[in-house]
Amino acid sequence: MTHPAQPKASHFINGAYVEDTAGTPIPVIYAATGEQIATVYAATPAIVEQALSTAKEAQKAWGKMTGTERGRILRRAADIMRARNHELSVLETYDTGKPLQETLVADATSGADALEYFGGLAGSLTGEHIPMGEDWVYTVREALGLCVGIGAWNYPTQIACWKGAPALACGNSMVFKPSETTPLCALKVAEILHEAGLPAGLYNVIQGMGEVGAALVTDPRVDKVSLTGSVPTGKKVYAAAAAGMKHVTMELGGKSPLIIFDDADVENAVGGAINGNFYSSGQVCSNGTRVFVQKGIKEKFLARLAERTGAAVLGDPQDEATSFGPMVTENQMNIVLGYIEKGKEEGARLICGGKRADMPGFFVEPTVFADVTDDMTIAREEIFGPVMSVLDFDTEEEVIARANDTEFGLSAGVFTNDFSRAHRVIGQLEAGSCFINSYNDAPVEAPFGGVKASGVGRENSKEAIKHFSQVKSVYVRMGDVEAAF
Ligand code: NDP
Repeated sequence: MTHPAQPKASHFINGAYVEDTAGTPIPVIYAATGEQIATVYAATPAIVEQALSTAKEAQKAWGKMTGTERGRILRRAADIMRARNHELSVLETYDTGKPLQETLVADATSGADALEYFGGLAGSLTGEHIPMGEDWVYTVREALGLCVGIGAWNYPTQIACWKGAPALACGNSMVFKPSETTPLCALKVAEILHEAGLPAGLYNVIQGMGEVGAALVTDPRVDKVSLTGSVPTGKKVYAAAAAGMKHVTMELGGKSPLIIFDDADVENAVGGAINGNFYSSGQVCSNGTRVFVQKGIKEKFLARLAERTGAAVLGDPQDEATSFGPMVTENQMNIVLGYIEKGKEEGARLICGGKRADMPGFFVEPTVFADVTDDMTIAREEIFGPVMSVLDFDTEEEVIARANDTEFGLSAGVFTNDFSRAHRVIGQLEAGSCFINSYNDAPVEAPFGGVKASGVGRENSKEAIKHFSQVKSVYVRMGDVEAAF
């Protein structure tokens, strides 16, 4: 019997599902059981061509519509997503293995927020009037044209919406390629946008591995590339986009610091560390995986952390009582287990977890290492799994220098009851998305993105508009033109 997660077809192009079984089959594996629940086929060159040519053509009329008309469609799509939240959350859980407890509140809902927010902004995207004596300059905020979105596997619905909503609001079209690991959810986003009245050809989804992404990025018809992925992939995609002088947004990885001072509220700090390390089983780019704890609070913090981590419920992700799911794939599980072994070998003190869970599926126990030092592999490399490194520190000055000693710069957090210190420290941390007495909040109203190797550009908020549009300036002369001859 066909599994309910099996999509109607692999791709969504020009307003309809499209299949081409000549492409490489991509099995979709449910991470909680290891069973194959669906198959899609990678886009063939013919499918890539169909998606790009349809998106290029459809954009011309869309870019000429008023922002209010475009926004109305996006807001309608947001309503449909909310109405179908349960069904979409179940699918997100099949696609990623994340527990339904999370997907019900963090995926389609976050996607709907983006559609609603950018739908609301679409009608107010205007230029400026710049007086120049009797003359003047006016500016026009124009669409870029055809945008490509490429997604990672941790938030397939959210990423498809975070890229699609601002792109469409600004009058662009999009071809979106999900991660081959989680190909299902973006198709639903496309389906819903069209159900809401989006004209055919404006939001297309095609499947495939890195080669399909590369084919999209290098196509001369593409004006902008927005990638969510790892730093090595980001470097390749950025370079390929640069060769064609295309606009880019790069949302890449991190190894973010979470700094807990002696005067912090311990329960809140532990809660922040849990949210910043174990949500989505640690598969979150902005996670605060280097938890710097001031020595005076360290033992109390570790004791409560171990107790509360012990309360994680591992189990069937479709059961709402489950609070901790598997790794997205067997491969990712093995990568994470490899890092755990490295942590043990390099002398970190295991506080809890530390192995594969004894159950079907790709579960890794939530793991905490203490006495981690800056040079250990687990403190330097992005693990993308439920492995928290706790490092000790003495002074504010010292912790700021150590927190910044990384190629990454996505996020940073501070827990303290001294608000002057909180702002002083955050002001010196090299990171794009920061938190005070909290961790990992990502509302659509706030800019999201990194500095240093963690990325270029910002998603969400009014900032995202700048990255999906360009400004044309027009000088208007009222008098005669003076010329030398
Ligand atoms: P990857 O970098 O492996 O892949 C990201 C996407 O790029 C996938 O769709 C992939 O296709 C595609 N891709 C791979 N090679 C190329 C290429 N040469 N040209 C164009 N596209 C290509 O990341 P993961 O999917 O493994 O996701 C995990 C990573 O994403 C983590 O490092 C994490 O930090 C980062 N991330 C960053 C976020 C942020 O906002 N900053 C948010 C979430 C994740 P395929 O996988 O199908 O081969």
